[in-house]
Amino acid sequence: MISEIIKKSRKIVIKIGSNTLSNDEGQINKALLQNIGTQIYELIKMHKQVVIVSSGARIAGTAAIDKWVRKEDMHYKQALCAVGQVELMNAYNNTFSEFNIHIGQLLLTRDDFNDPNRTLNIRNTLFTLVDEGVIPIINENDTVSVEEIKIGDNDTLAALTANLWDADLLIMMSDIDGVYNKNPKNNKEVRLIEEIKDIDLLESEIEMEGKSDFGTGGILTKLEAARKVNKYGIPMILTNGKKRDILIDLLNNKEVATLFFREGLR
Ligand code: ADP
Repeated sequence: MISEIIKKSRKIVIKIGSNTLSNDEGQINKALLQNIGTQIYELIKMHKQVVIVSSGARIAGTAAIDKWVRKEDMHYKQALCAVGQVELMNAYNNTFSEFNIHIGQLLLTRDDFNDPNRTLNIRNTLFTLVDEGVIPIINENDTVSVEEIKIGDNDTLAALTANLWDADLLIMMSDIDGVYNKNPKNNKEVRLIEEIKDIDLLESEIEMEGKSDFGTGGILTKLEAARKVNKYGIPMILTNGKKRDILIDLLNNKEVATLFFREGLR
């Protein structure tokens, strides 16, 4: 089913989580990013269009200016993200320039999705970039996003983007293979749930405490994202982006993940 859905989807939003992008030293894992870039290039060669929603500004910033790491002040946190965003885009640029693909940066806030003029502008920019073969890379604009106006996590941002762009599929890359009945980080005997049709029912049946070191959303925001896109007929796949060639393996039925899909979806 997952393979079929990826095959028939033309417009794909791929969300890459901080934990996917970081290595054990808390830096951007450039080798993995390279691999993800190669996988995305494979999708593009299959005539698919890709929009990336990427976290990782904070870890990239931390790696660049480590003396700011323990600063709790909000302005320092935002400043760190401002520095890290450049590092992050640099890493993406290096990755995609090998394939002669340009990237475009979009930094968005919650307000941008609530204002019809702004959403229209975002839509038009996305369509133009993608039509011209550029890969848009979206992140929350941390400089202006104080707590009250924050989207807060890139799972939600990715879902809003998928709906806005009218995507065919949202792929969430995290550091787990999918949704389990319990947090796989704290429990040994866990069961992967490969297909989810009823998210309300699922929520009442699984345990989902905790999130990984750099993550901001945890599994709950992923379920909410699935709910948001499923409502508009868009399926969502939660998969382990830390595994090399995961998208290709999913395409070839060599790997498992979780598919959020309701009957009657496109
Ligand atoms: P990301 O940075 O990729 O967005 P998060 O840390 O926000 O990742 O969320 C993923 C984490 O959610 C996993 O690493 C896992 O530890 C945790 N988690 C909690 N409950 C569950 C569950 N039932 N199934 C899968 N993951 C879970």
